[in-house]
Amino acid sequence: MKVELKKPLDYAVNRPPIWCPGCGDYGILEALRRALAELSLPNEQVVVVSGIGCSSQLPHFMKTYGIHGLHGRAVAIASGIKIANPKLKVVVVGGDGDGYGIGLNHMIHAARRNIGITYIVSNNQVYGLTTGQMSPTTLKGVKTKTTPYGSIDEPVNPLALALAAGATYVARGFSGDVAHLAKLIKEALSHRGFALVDVLSPCVTFNKVNTYDWFRARVYKLEESGHDPRDYFQAYKKALEWPTIDPVGKIPIGLFYKTEEKPAYEEEMLKILGGRAPIEAELQPPLEKV
Ligand code: SF4
Repeated sequence: MKVELKKPLDYAVNRPPIWCPGCGDYGILEALRRALAELSLPNEQVVVVSGIGCSSQLPHFMKTYGIHGLHGRAVAIASGIKIANPKLKVVVVGGDGDGYGIGLNHMIHAARRNIGITYIVSNNQVYGLTTGQMSPTTLKGVKTKTTPYGSIDEPVNPLALALAAGATYVARGFSGDVAHLAKLIKEALSHRGFALVDVLSPCVTFNKVNTYDWFRARVYKLEESGHDPRDYFQAYKKALEWPTIDPVGKIPIGLFYKTEEKPAYEEEMLKILGGRAPIEAELQPPLEKV
């Protein structure tokens, strides 16, 4: 069958995003469209799911299927979609408040099950939609509306958590480097199993600390540092390099870890169902009981 070659704009709707000018979410939207175009995935085979937050508006700007779901529940919805119809490419997009706060539990379970979804987290270290409260990834000492004397919480380390939970693809991008981020998302979309792409994504309106310049002064690419993404323990060590209270500390971006040795959850499920996805089994006579 002839594959239709796609362009990023083939995944765009005739409606501009409503984010603040300069928001990191624009970089994520462009990177996702580029990654889909490079794989030339048919629009009707892609589902983008989100929860609540600024970045969670992203499915509205994609010419694919989409669900704008409940706060923190996007990974659960996406898991259901993937299990019902494993042929679909299922992408989740959301923020750090949505995914690493209220919805963190879902990420851990999707990772340990190795469900074949791509989870892109726009990590801007603040609650943007609700105008600037501390989020789970706000760095210690940073002042926000809810931490006027500086946060005293240790921030969540999403990459270390994902690795500990058993995620099989763990990466971090920067929305100020769209080409690099698109490459990571493309790999994640092609991955067998659960893929987390955490994205350093400045909120230009409510986070005046973690700006584009702040990140540009700190990020370095793992692939240029001799990192071996097959080495789980090295990946974990790299994940611990940030977040940190060290004001001059470096921040690794790129692919931390990848293995395809574990089967995806939906593969295991198809084995039990004799190769028929639930959505197909619905339309066919039931399997004989064993
Ligand atoms: Fe982006 Fe922040 Fe504006 Fe929300 S408030 S759209 S995260 S810049």
